[in-house]
Amino acid sequence: MELKRLNIGNLIPGMQNIDIVGNVLRMSKKEFKKDDNQGIMCSILLGDDTGTIRLVLWNNEVDRVEGLKQGDFIRVTGFVKQGPFGSEIRVGRFGKLEKYGQGTRRRVSINEMTEEGAYEIRAALLQIFETSPFYEICPKCGFSLKENESGYVCKTHGSIEPQYAMRVTGIIDDGTGNIRCVMFKETAEKIVGVTTNQAKDIVLREGVSGLFSRARYGEYIFSGKLKKNTYFDRMEFVINSVDEVDVKNEIFLLANSGSG
Ligand SMILES: [Zn+2]
Repeated sequence: MELKRLNIGNLIPGMQNIDIVGNVLRMSKKEFKKDDNQGIMCSILLGDDTGTIRLVLWNNEVDRVEGLKQGDFIRVTGFVKQGPFGSEIRVGRFGKLEKYGQGTRRRVSINEMTEEGAYEIRAALLQIFETSPFYEICPKCGFSLKENESGYVCKTHGSIEPQYAMRVTGIIDDGTGNIRCVMFKETAEKIVGVTTNQAKDIVLREGVSGLFSRARYGEYIFSGKLKKNTYFDRMEFVINSVDEVDVKNEIFLLANSGSG
């Protein structure tokens, strides 16, 4: 799939696989309720030299802009749709959303990751810990659920029959060091190589070790956040995207690293 970096002023409804960088001019988050559908919606007005457009995020997509504020630059891939107030960008299942420029993820080696923050690393996934990867989420908004005496509860939707998502923890190593990492939902599915539903079947038949024996170990570009796990008093890398190693881009980074 070829992505093309576009100007915001050139976006029109119907465009697929767009790739833009925009400045966050305004953002608002609100709960909505329409018919029997409810959840959270986030609307972000993005601008560049050529125009402005709304980026609209729904439910669990809203997680992806946590910490984002007015004035930040973000890179978005997704598609353009006609909305009630004109063209709007949607990220969908396959789009990406990341901070861009100042404060953006930095390519580093594992031994350089000492402070909390956003980073990108090229490393090999060596091991996945054999604990049950499933956890309960709300089928309406995708947020994780709390368990009480009567069942599962969503902060927004109350008592609800849970759906399942995957959370995988493991060890990644890049030759300079190794670190414990955690991946959720689509990122976990990508590494395990099957959907959450398929994973449930496999675990029933073959156990957790059967599932992880199929995982796609090896080298990737991981981006995410280094966070302190205060309970265990250690750093963990919370991965939010996993990409195949792109050889062309690696050559570009080497040529521009200025080291050596
Ligand atoms: Zn919910």
